[in-house]
Amino acid sequence: MVRDFTMAKYGELCRVLLGAGYTPATVYQYLTDPPGGRTVVLRHDVDRKPENALKMAELEHALGVCSTYYFRHPHTFIPEVIEQVLSLGHEVGYHYEVLAKAKGNYEEAIALFARELEEFRSLCDVRTICMHGSPLSRYDNRDLWKRYDFREFGIMGEAYLSMAGKGLCYLTDTGRNWGGKHSVRDAMPGVEPVPPSVATTDDLARWIGSARVEGLYLTVHPERWAVSEGEWATGYMMDLVMNAGKAVLVAMR
Ligand SMILES: [Zn+2]
Repeated sequence: MVRDFTMAKYGELCRVLLGAGYTPATVYQYLTDPPGGRTVVLRHDVDRKPENALKMAELEHALGVCSTYYFRHPHTFIPEVIEQVLSLGHEVGYHYEVLAKAKGNYEEAIALFARELEEFRSLCDVRTICMHGSPLSRYDNRDLWKRYDFREFGIMGEAYLSMAGKGLCYLTDTGRNWGGKHSVRDAMPGVEPVPPSVATTDDLARWIGSARVEGLYLTVHPERWAVSEGEWATGYMMDLVMNAGKAVLVAMR
């Protein structure tokens, strides 16, 4: 079997993007001062394995690529890792899941949001946030912003809500299948998905070369990209089990 979804393969993907003339941008840069021309916004949801995020951040830095890393609290809130990712020139944001944590209690959720954001801000200036999909919860964390306004917290963008409707083509590595339908909540309203024939990262590289889309928005979970051979094998098996489990849970919801 071909070893896809390894750090080496991610490096190849970055080179393909750069070779096709895409300028990388963080979520903050894209929302405040988009580079113009072909742009790729690279977003990393650090759900697990912060050490993989650091590896990815170093790899991107070596290639001259900047991106946005969203860390969870407390799961991947590791100050040493966050500080290193920042020092490599990347944006760090807050991957919030407070409505799921508060089991749908909005007052509790917004108070928790303020507290966790404060902790992030003791390390860095957080300007954008991104909801965690909380696949096992029946609460959609984004719903918090139906009652509250993140701008009142000095946040200028949310990685789903603020990026929708900008004509970007959205791609995610969820389920280690770029064109797959595995994601429970990870969809952008009003955005064309990648063709289902695009499964592997090599397929994606070919598609990037032929589709010539002006703006790309890629969500890449660092924990899904194996640093070692052993991690690749266990990760692949875990994905099969997790995706089967999520499908069952969603059907039962
Ligand atoms: Zn997440």
